[in-house]
Parts: sequence; structure tokens; C-alpha cells
Amino acid sequence: MLGPNLVSGFSVRVSWASGPATPTAPQFATQGHHIPVEAAYAGRMLRGTAVCLGTPAALARDGATHLLLGGEIYNREAIAGAVGNAFLTHGSDAELVLAAWLHWGISAFRILNGRFAAVILDSGGRIVLATDHAGSFPLWVRADEYGVDVSSEAKTLARGKSLAVDVPGAQLIPRGAGVHRVPAGTALILETVQGEVRTSSVVRTWAPPLSRTAPAPDAAVAKVRELLGEAVRTRLRDESEPTVVLSGGIDSSGVAAHAVAHSALVHTVSMGTDVSDEFEAAAAVAGHLGTDHQEISVDSADLVRELPWAVWAAEITDHTILEYLLPLVALYRRLPPGPRRILTGYGADIPLGGMHRRTERLDFLDAVIAHDMATFDGLNEMSPVVSGVAGIWSTHPYWDRDVLDCLVTLDAGLKRRYGRDKWVLRESLTGMLPDATLARPKLGIHEGSGTTSAWTAELLGRGVPEEKVEEAKAAMARRMHELIVLGGERPEDVSFDEVLLSTESALRLERRTVT
Ligand code: AMP
Ligand code: MG
Repeated sequence: MLGPNLVSGFSVRVSWASGPATPTAPQFATQGHHIPVEAAYAGRMLRGTAVCLGTPAALARDGATHLLLGGEIYNREAIAGAVGNAFLTHGSDAELVLAAWLHWGISAFRILNGRFAAVILDSGGRIVLATDHAGSFPLWVRADEYGVDVSSEAKTLARGKSLAVDVPGAQLIPRGAGVHRVPAGTALILETVQGEVRTSSVVRTWAPPLSRTAPAPDAAVAKVRELLGEAVRTRLRDESEPTVVLSGGIDSSGVAAHAVAHSALVHTVSMGTDVSDEFEAAAAVAGHLGTDHQEISVDSADLVRELPWAVWAAEITDHTILEYLLPLVALYRRLPPGPRRILTGYGADIPLGGMHRRTERLDFLDAVIAHDMATFDGLNEMSPVVSGVAGIWSTHPYWDRDVLDCLVTLDAGLKRRYGRDKWVLRESLTGMLPDATLARPKLGIHEGSGTTSAWTAELLGRGVPEEKVEEAKAAMARRMHELIVLGGERPEDVSFDEVLLSTESALRLERRTVT
């Protein structure tokens, strides 16, 4: 197994005056080896740490321009072709992005299709911070009067002691000591004017499309097949043995089927608990595709106790999203150590309306899709840190920019057709998967793994009334976020049971005050 060769996380400071030094080495959730990164130009210093898998070139330089890249680019051939330098396909992704920047300037970020975040120190002394279309590689920023700290993990910035200043165009996180999040599909250009940092432009590089197309069904099916195949192919990079996390549902089975078409050996892995699993469905797909398949069972009581790791990875407070991510975090943590590139079926339901499988009216279905696409940013579901906590790189073909643009814009009547949800995707996989898989109804990961019910059972067992369960979960998630992300505690030092106990007594106190 070759494994990924990229920067999976970083934390750097760009400074223009000698201010207080960064006190301690950043504590990342992302596992990998640390390399120092350093660049200087015209009184500006970029200095920090990159977390690496393999031996990537983290920084690229051309004259006075320096670029730090986290993550990877998927339309490498197109970029190299447009820039007119075929050799770029043999170089690092950081060099490719730098060439794109030198060629197009800021609009390079409207052309690059990838899972990345970039920091540029340009020849004019500006600092550019850019995310991919989906913000799928998180980028956090905190500015003070001496410089700007930029990181892939909020926790590395959240205890900054200097006086933080506002970063217009980025979103301030509540109680985060001045930490901001760069939105999805955004490039911020920061400048210093008389020693003070300010945002000189906020450039939107992608937005979820609101228009819809109504192609002939056959053409739509062919397009989805082609684009998904391409998204899987480009995500395999040079990996000879990719892994697909397989539930046996249509989304992950589709990714596995396309992966098998492009690799000699595909590993698949399924997780389940004592409460629930989808092992039979996944095994049927693995058998059909001839993958090297593994099942991993987790005790559900242990699973919920890994919630602090999910918070550590995703850095969010939304308990419903944490329920989706927790089984994946638990699964990744149980895989044998070593380099690994994982493809998932994550996120297909958002543009296809898979969660709304009982919605019959096409205008309702399209409205919920438009709503979900308008509100995904900040949920951080696609973060590479979810697998990074186990030293693994993961990527999500359904959120490839071209796949996503295609799926979002399709007429809802192609998403729901003949009474079937995600019709166009199912149809595009005909002949590649068993009929039973093509017809299999959706089961969310939190349902299939029993995560939701296991967490609920813990709360009910502690005497939390049923109607308060959601509220208690939300309170637990907020508390863990406070301790781990804002407070810098390690996940192993935060006990699920203690947080549950304190939440439960807070709720009880509240009940008593009300009555
Ligand atoms: P879902 O909520 O079912 O759409 O899950 C999102 C993605 O997580 C799937 O496409 C799979 O790649 C992965 N996944 C879901 N359930 C499992 C499971 N039980 N075992 C392994 N991977 C899973
Ligand atoms: Mg599923």
C-alpha cells in the first residue's frame, strides 16, 4: 500500500512584526509526522508546522510568492493543460496550485477542484486564505496586531492570549477567543495597512447552484455515471490499494464499484455494533465486486464513549452531525495502523435528497435540497480530521465539485422517479452492482450502526425523560466542545459519563426551578 502523500493538517503564523512568540507546539487531532514550514519575504514571516502523510512538498515558491497547501487537487490534468505546462502533472499539488495562482490570480480558486486549503504569501505582501468549494478542508484564522494565525484545527488557535482583531469575511466562532472560520468556497485577501491587518477582498469561488436542468433521463444517467467514475478515479491518485468504507447502501456501494473498475485491489470495511449492523448487505456487495472485505464490530456502550474523539475531530457542537460522524471515527480508529487512503459514500444524500425519501412532491423535494445545500457550510461533516485522528486520509467523491454541480442541478424528477429515491444514481450503477443493492432503501449510518439509539439508551437509563433526550444530547455536545476544542483538553481526559452526569443534573435542576 503506497498511501497518501500530502499535508493533512497545518498551523502557521504569518507575522510582520516581532510580537509574542507562539507559546507551545500545536496539539493537533490529526495524526501524522510534523515538519516545520518556514518562508520569509519583505519583512513577512510564515512559520509553523505541517502534519504530513508521506513526504509531500508542503510549500511551493516562485520568486517572492510562497504557497502552503493542505489536502489535494483532483483536476490536475485540466489545470496543467490550461496553464500550458504538462510537467505540472508530475509535480506536487502545491506547485500546481501555485502555477494556477500565477496564471489566473484569485480566480484560480474558481477553477481548482479539490479537497484543500491554501495559504499564500504573495509578492505584494498580501496573505491569501482559500478553501475548496465545500470547505471540506477546514481553515481557521485568528488575527492580532502582529500577525495572523491560520490552522486546519480551531483547537490550536482557541487559547490564543493576544488581543484578537476581527477578520471580516470569516465567521467568528462563539466563545472562541477570536477564532474565525473561513467559509466554504471563499478566498480572503488580507492586507496590512500601517501594521493593521484588514480584509481587502472576500472572493466567493463557489456557491450551491439554484438553477435546475431537465436533461433526457438517459443522458442524465450517463452523465452521473461518467462524473462519479471520474471523481473516484482522480481520488485514487497513485494508490494501489484503496479502501472504501462500505455500508452496503447504494452510495458507498457505487463508490466501491467505480473503485474496483480502476484498481487491482480494493479493500472494503464495514462496521456494526451489538445493537445493529448492515453486515449482510455490505458482504453481498463485497462478494459481487471481489473486494478484500473486513467487518469490524464495536460494542455500542464503547461507541458512545468515543464521542469526545468525534468532537475532537469535527470541532462542532451539532449533536445530530456528531451522531453521523461518531461511527466513522470509531471505525477509523480500529483499522490496522499504516498508510491508508479511504473513499466514502458520504454526502450523496444532500444533493439527491436521500434523507427525504418519503417526500413525494417534486417541488417539496427540490426545496429541501436547496435548503440543505444552502446550510451545509460550518457543519464540518466532510472534514479530513474525522479520519485524520487515526492517521488516515479520507475523501468523498459525491462532493467532488463537478459531481455535486451535476447532482444539485438535476431536475428533482430524476432524483425521485417511479417511486424510487436517488433514481438517477441507482440507474447509473445498473450492471455494476447486485440488483438487491440497487433497490436497497437508504439507512443512515447513525441508524445502521445503532449510534442514535445507543446514545438515547444511555440518557434514558440515567433518568432523562424521553422528551428531553435531544436537549440533553445537544447540551452534552456543547459541553464536550467547550472542554476539548475551546479548552484544549485531550479526548481521553474527557469522560462521556461525567459529562452525562453533569448534563443530567443541570437538566434536573432546571426542571425543579420550572416546577
Ligand atoms: P450514510 O449515512 O449511510 O449515507 O453513510 C455515509 C457513508 O459512511 C456511507 O456512504 C459509507 O461510506 C459510510 N458508512 C455508513 N455506514 C457504514 C458502516 N456501517 N460501515 C462502514 N461504512 C459505513
Ligand atoms: Mg447508509
